[in-house]
This record gives sequence, C-alpha cells and structure tokens, in this order.
Amino acid sequence: MKKKVIIIGAGLAGMIAAHKAEREGVEAVLIDRGSIGLGTNSAMANGVIAGTTGSYSGKEYVADSIDIGRGINRRRMVEIAAAGVEAAISMLRSVGLNVVEGTNLYSVKSPDPEVIPGVTIVKKLAEAVFSLNGFRAVTGFYVTDIVKAEGRACGVRGLNAAGQEVAIAADAVILAAGGAGAAYLKNDNQKTIMGQGYELAAKAGLPLWDMEFVQFYPLVFADPHLPSMLIFPPYHEAIELTNSSGEDIAMKYGLDNINEAVTKKRDEFSALLFQELHSGPVWMDFRNIPPEMWKKHPLSLLAKMKHDFSKEPVAVSPAAHFFMGGVKIGEGCETDLPGLFACGEVAFGLHGANRRGGNALLECVVFGSIAGRNAALYALGNDAPPMKEPASAARAMSDDRVDLCAIRREIREIAWNHAGVVRDEEGVRKGLEKIAGVQGRLGMVLPHTTKEQRLKCDLQSAAFTVKAILTASLGRKESRGSLLRSDFPNEDNANWKKNSCLKYDAERSMFLMSFEDAG
Ligand SMILES: Cc1cc2nc3c(=O)[nH]c(=O)nc-3n(C[C@H](O)[C@H](O)[C@H](O)COP(=O)(O)OP(=O)(O)OC[C@H]3O[C@@H](n4cnc5c(N)ncnc54)[C@H](O)[C@@H]3O)c2cc1C
Repeated sequence: MKKKVIIIGAGLAGMIAAHKAEREGVEAVLIDRGSIGLGTNSAMANGVIAGTTGSYSGKEYVADSIDIGRGINRRRMVEIAAAGVEAAISMLRSVGLNVVEGTNLYSVKSPDPEVIPGVTIVKKLAEAVFSLNGFRAVTGFYVTDIVKAEGRACGVRGLNAAGQEVAIAADAVILAAGGAGAAYLKNDNQKTIMGQGYELAAKAGLPLWDMEFVQFYPLVFADPHLPSMLIFPPYHEAIELTNSSGEDIAMKYGLDNINEAVTKKRDEFSALLFQELHSGPVWMDFRNIPPEMWKKHPLSLLAKMKHDFSKEPVAVSPAAHFFMGGVKIGEGCETDLPGLFACGEVAFGLHGANRRGGNALLECVVFGSIAGRNAALYALGNDAPPMKEPASAARAMSDDRVDLCAIRREIREIAWNHAGVVRDEEGVRKGLEKIAGVQGRLGMVLPHTTKEQRLKCDLQSAAFTVKAILTASLGRKESRGSLLRSDFPNEDNANWKKNSCLKYDAERSMFLMSFEDAG
C-alpha cells in the first residue's frame, strides 16, 4: 500500500503541497471543509506575486521584504522565498497560467477580465491535481483535531459531510488551513476563514507566533447591499476619496495618490480611514472614470455588482485582510511536532510585522512545494504508529437553543473594536474579558444540526484566535508594522525587535506568553 500524506486545506498552498507530495510517490489526500480551490481565500486573490525579476535582485527582494516587516521577519524564510521565485513561476506556468513579469512582481492574468485572477489560479491547479493518479480529494470534511501517537502526528479526526465523527490515518500531515480574517466584523476574506488552523496547531501542542500582527486592507466595500469585497488595485487616478464632510482625504492627509498609500503606507492609510469613520462614512467616488475603463481589469471585476459606480459613490472601510503570525516551521516546513508540516498563511516567519503585497501567493507556492516534498519524504521514511480511538469528547452541558449567528457577530465585534486597526491597553483588556465570556457560553452550546455543529467549531476557532491576537497585542508595548498601539505609538527596537510566542495551556485555557527572537 502507498504511503499517505494528508493535506488540510485546499487553497493554493494545500494544492501545491498535494501536487508535490504526489509527484514524490505518495498518496496525497487533500481535505477541505468545502470544495477544492473555490471557497478558499486563494480564490479571492488579485494574482499579484512578489519576487525577483530580471531587473530586481534577490538581495533587493530580501531587503525590501524585511523593511516592510520592520525587521522581525525570519531572514532565512525570506531568503528561501527569494531563491524559490523562479521555480514557483515555472510551476504556475506549467499548469497553464498566464504569469506576466513586472518590475518587482508578477501578475497572473485571467483570460476573462471579469474573473478574479485567484479563481483562475485555483481552477488551473485543481485541474492539475485531479489529473494525478495518486491524488484523492475529500471535500465537505471539517478537521477538528490533528491526531497524535507516540509523540508524532499520525492522522486527522473530523466531521464528514453528514456530521459523523471520522478519523483518517496518515504517514504525514500538512497543515495548510489559511488565516482568520473572517473573525473580524469587517473583513474581505471568505466568510468561514476563522483561524481553524491556528487552533488545530495549538491544540496539537504547537506555540503560535506573532499573532498580534493582522494586516488591514484600507479599501473594502462597506455598503450593506454589497459583498464586503476588497476593491482591487490599481486605482484609476480619477477616483476620489472623501470623508463625511466632503473633504478630499488624499489632500487632507497629504497622500500623493491612493495607489502609493495602499502599497507603501497601508497601515497608516488604514488608521487614518479608521479615524475618519468615527465621524461618518468614507466615500469612494468613481464617477469621473472614463467609460472605456470599465471593461478593463480591475474595474471590470465590478461590472456584475449591484451598484452603479458610474453614478453613485460607494461607502468604504478598512477591513481585516491577512495574518502575518502563525505556526513556526523549519527550512523543510516541518513543525515541532514530528510528522506535521505547515505552509501558506497559517505559517509564520516570512512577513514579520507586516506583509509585502504579493508575498502571500509566493509563500503558498514556494513553501507549499517544500512542505509537499518533505512530508512525502517523511512518510516514505517513517511508518506511522496506529491511531488510537480517542475518548469521546465531553458532551456540552446545555440544550437551550442558542443563537450562534448572534455569537458570531459578537466575536467579530470584539475583534473589530478591541483588536482592530488601532489598539490600546484598556481596549485590549476589555476585549479579553468579553472574549472569555463568549468562550464560556460557546462551550455550553449543544448543536442540533450539522450546520450548527460546524458553526460552533468555527466560532470556537474564531474566539480562540481573537484571544491569541489580544493576548499578544497586550504584551507588545510598542507600535510596529501592522500593530498600531495608540498608547505606545513608536517603534521600539531597543526592547521589542523580537517575536511574540504564545504557548497554549489547554488545562487552564490560557496562553503563556514570551517574546524572543524566533531565529
Ligand atoms: C481579497 C484578497 C485578495 C488577495 N490578493 C492577494 C494577491 O494578489 N497576492 C498575494 O500575494 N496575496 C493576496 N491575498 C492573500 C492570499 O490570497 C492568501 O494569503 C492565500 O491565498 C492563502 O492561501 P492558503 O492556501 O494558505 O489558504 P486558503 O486559500 O485560505 O485555503 C485554506 C483552506 O483551508 C480550509 N480549512 C481551514 N480549516 C479547515 C478545517 N479545519 N478542515 C477542513 N478545511 C479547513 C479553508 O476552508 C480553506 O478552504 C489576498 C487575500 C484576499 C482575501
């Protein structure tokens, strides 16, 4: 029988890992709670991939990424990303993607300008993995635990589409479960991306690093009739941003143009929009855009939306976009738990305190390949111990009907109000109290349907992740990269040029925090 590698999460990182693992001669089992590719954050991506090019060296790429990460990136991870650019771009081209080289980045082009590039990427990769003999997809499967035996990972347990608890054994496991943007009230992620991967890792005994660093994208639709979608750059020069008093925001804050602000001053731009939102809505006005531009990318992506942008401005807001923190991996994407590998947004190290635009997709391809290869080699070289049936989980205590949707809103509000764009000690402490209350109530919920069962799991992960963000935010007494603390507005290299590390103490349901150089 072939050795088996399970990959949790069928986004770009998971699909690349599955592809690579299968090519090494194992059975690659790609598991997702939804479908393969679509429904992931990867499918939402604008297709921008940072990297070395003919006119942009590895040295420049490393220096720029570390500058944006404010010096706390793990340098070796950045160097590995730089060294992997060429192979990553070739891999994407080999599955039929049109990847165009720019000055210091690449762009994946959709054949149809009305299709988000991320959708094109995941569809092509899904075709590629499904064509492999040793590939198997398990969809509709919600992983609730990484199973351990004899001190190593040996499979997963979870809920199948019918809500039954099922265990699947494996010789190695790859965690590629993405980030947690949808734990926030305002976010541009797929709505079920709530930190499940962080909770899985922490429950398996792995520390979480740099969880305080959440990137907010400045310009996301905030109109209740529209999806909370990122407004894709580049922005046409005729676009105007105004506050509730009609002032031009770019002029008011001396921003040269919106594109520069989004790429180079994303945190400050988000913070000032966040400030403006206290006085009323912020409007993005597309009315002066020449009509012929609406057929071209990226404005073409707005064509099907229920809003006439050529006639009416639209309300916008910053929103949670990307998580820089997560699980620590070595050069082979191995974690501290033997047999468990990690890649993609769930992993930490490449980005430091802030992510350079385009580095997430590069991370998925470079580290997805490394994880796939090394998990396969680990599986081929090690026999997994048999999986033991776990003691069945304690039943929830209360059968009262609880409105889980209301709890979801509550968690998202806590995240937005207490772990949002600008934080301070008092707000973070209040957030921690509130989230503990939510966790207590959630623990009592007895789900009645498969849908409720999954939603409860989602909310437990979201609350767990928000608690991690708040805890690490409280510990870091400075502002750095994406973390803006109004009570410590300056970057403090003398004391805080290091990474936060949260070890989860399951018995006491609390994090033990330290700050150290992750190396
Ligand atoms: C709107 C938007 C635009 C972006 N544009 C760009 C861009 O142009 N360039 C760039 O570099 N980055 C971009 N990013 C960031 C980038 O898209 C993501 O960081 C990246 O795609 C994450 O890929 P991933 O494979 O790690 O996770 P995902 O693509 O999020 O996939 C993770 C999958 O795991 C599944 N999963 C999680 N937990 C479980 C579980 N317990 N059981 C089963 N399945 C589970 C999830 O449901 C999901 O399907 C963008 C992000 C957004 C939101």
